[in-house]
Amino acid sequence: MPRTRLSICQRKQRFASEEEAMRAAIAATIDLRPYRCDRCGRYHLTSRLKGKRRLPVA
Ligand SMILES: [Zn+2]
Repeated sequence: MPRTRLSICQRKQRFASEEEAMRAAIAATIDLRPYRCDRCGRYHLTSRLKGKRRLPVA
């Protein structure tokens, strides 16, 4: 079962690669994590930290 809801996928910004998503996450003022979406196969950002790996400290 997909963990990403279609409605969430559709309204979220999409990134073609994890690197691109990571860059946007680092640039953001709030704490975000990139994750691969199993709906569209691209990357989105989430502010939910549970179960997400932490970004390496720059
Ligand atoms: Zn998606």
